[in-house]
Amino acid sequence: MIIEAKNINKFYGACEALKNFSLSVPRGSSFALLGPNGAGKTTFVKALLDLTQISGGEIKINGISSLDSKSREGIGYLPEKFNFFDYYTVEGVLVFYGKMKGVGDLLSEQIKMALEKTGISDLRKRRVKTLSKGQMQRLGIASILMGDNDLLILDEPFTGLDPIGIKELKDVLRGLQNAGKTLFINSHILTEVEQMCDEMAIVNKGQLVVQGKITELVGESSLEDYFYQKIKS
Ligand code: ATP
Repeated sequence: MIIEAKNINKFYGACEALKNFSLSVPRGSSFALLGPNGAGKTTFVKALLDLTQISGGEIKINGISSLDSKSREGIGYLPEKFNFFDYYTVEGVLVFYGKMKGVGDLLSEQIKMALEKTGISDLRKRRVKTLSKGQMQRLGIASILMGDNDLLILDEPFTGLDPIGIKELKDVLRGLQNAGKTLFINSHILTEVEQMCDEMAIVNKGQLVVQGKITELVGESSLEDYFYQKIKS
């Protein structure tokens, strides 16, 4: 398992955002964390990245406690809303992230690889302010490939994309999974999750409802019907 979370509790004042929440993410999977608004998805990602202090429990990434900064060395995180300096070029953004990740001699090679994997090599010299939403999303993903991360955490990556952008993004993400990366996706868009992901967990009111392989859990039903039934029951 690349992520193992056990009995996580998180309080915001009196609000218990995560209640004895446990989760295991298999290495190399494309994993979706699903749940209605306010279920605790973002809180879990923040806990995983040690951006918020948990009240109890333990999370391990690659066997290392999430409280140890070493656990984040192999992680690329793309928040739902992100921005880059408008006046940077696409290449400039990747140089920035590569340097931040401590990429040394391999910087040019990694930039080339990140541009190719996300299909934006021809945008290399374009300024951020000229990019479309879909192109920005691809640059966001390219930025988290710098440092050769093996776990990519994507918060609502499909939001705001048109059908072409969604299709292209799914192709990029599938390519990354085929290259051995683990994808951890927070999403509300169930049709995309059903096509893209092989594993999922559903969280509701801070508690794990179910976790497992999507095809085995959903069976003959659709993910939408299955999700609705699990949340309403
Ligand atoms: P959404 O899909 O709407 O983004 P989510 O599943 O990501 O929701 P969280 O953002 O993790 O849900 O929120 C879980 C619960 O914790 C909610 O009840 C929310 O109101 C509460 N919460 C989140 N952040 C804070 C905070 N900083 N202070 C107080 N309560 C918070």
